[in-house]
Amino acid sequence: MTKQYRITLLPGDGIGPEIMAVAVQVLQVIGKQMELAFEFQEALIGGSAIDATGVPLPPETLETCRQSDAVLLAAIGGTQWDSLPAEIRPEQGLLGLRAGLSLFANLRPAKILPQLIDASTLKREVVEGVDIMVVRELTGGVYFGQPKGIFHTEAGERRGVNTMVYTESEIDRIGRVAFDIARKRNRKLCSVDKANVLEVSQLWRDRMNHLAKDYPDVALSHLYVDNAAMQLVRAPRQFDTIVTSNLFGDILSDAAAMLTGSIGMLPSASLGSSGPGVFEPVHGSAPDIAGQDKANPLAQVLSAAMMLRYGLNEPGAAVRIEQAVMKVLDQGNRTGDILSEGMTLLGCRAMGAALLDVIQPSS
Ligand code: NAD
Repeated sequence: MTKQYRITLLPGDGIGPEIMAVAVQVLQVIGKQMELAFEFQEALIGGSAIDATGVPLPPETLETCRQSDAVLLAAIGGTQWDSLPAEIRPEQGLLGLRAGLSLFANLRPAKILPQLIDASTLKREVVEGVDIMVVRELTGGVYFGQPKGIFHTEAGERRGVNTMVYTESEIDRIGRVAFDIARKRNRKLCSVDKANVLEVSQLWRDRMNHLAKDYPDVALSHLYVDNAAMQLVRAPRQFDTIVTSNLFGDILSDAAAMLTGSIGMLPSASLGSSGPGVFEPVHGSAPDIAGQDKANPLAQVLSAAMMLRYGLNEPGAAVRIEQAVMKVLDQGNRTGDILSEGMTLLGCRAMGAALLDVIQPSS
């Protein structure tokens, strides 16, 4: 029996509409093959929403997202909106979406594809075989803790304050997401903290050890964040799944991503405890190449695969997409951002067509 899914599409700004068009074509073909019926609804976010409605996240966009099974987002932002006041800038659309859907877990895979290994700035023998998933807590920690602000001391000096705070329940819910993901991967989870200095990290470590009792099949280890950063660039293959707080995750997920060297290839997911997740490329709206058919659509397509695996629990369809991406790369097809000697340069639309050819050979 055909399964029905409602997907909200948020193409956003810059290259967003171009790469989203490719992902939708891929989903339509995979859907037919796997008996999955996708009902797509497009909504406004970011700069395009500001132009049309005056705000970066119109209430009807959030409502459409809430009513759907998953949200596929491209990217937002561009120089034409950079001079607007902070509260109505495109980025507020993303923050509002995360808050509105209570997305507390951010999943950032960093996988070295053998075809693109030379794109990494690290030596082949260091990065070969790297396949890491960073699970970052997204709605707590020092970015949101109170008190925060710039205050005046009695001596007339200004004093900047942020507060790193986590409750046990906040730690437990991100911990469970990470343990569940580690269980679906290589059953190795590394929790990253700064428990030698920070009390909030001591609580974090205590709760991770407590949760580990429910996951006897997952090997839990702990690293201080400074050591984790060193190990990520020294010997990244030692990691499988990493779980960490908002601030440490912000930094480590970017460092892990850059092991791969190719921003146009990296997908991500943000999940809540129930309701739809948001799936999007790590890169931005690339205004420098927007509208020129130069964008690499593969991070968007791989975000659609993450949506199938983590948002809709359709791992079979996700694998088909991931295999198609590997195959087009094997065939030597490259967009400009991942081009190397001897490979064939394709535009965004042609890369989409190459993917469709692989998924559904025309013969
Ligand atoms: P960016 O990721 O948009 O671009 C950085 C560089 O990578 C550019 O040279 C761009 O051409 C290239 N690039 C990025 N994605 C590509 C792709 N798919 N194919 C080929 N090349 C690609 O980062 P930026 O230039 O710092 O930011 C541009 C705009 O995007 C800003 O307004 C920023 O605020 C926004 N942004 C949005 C998100 C998001 O939507 N989640 C994330 C980061 C930046």
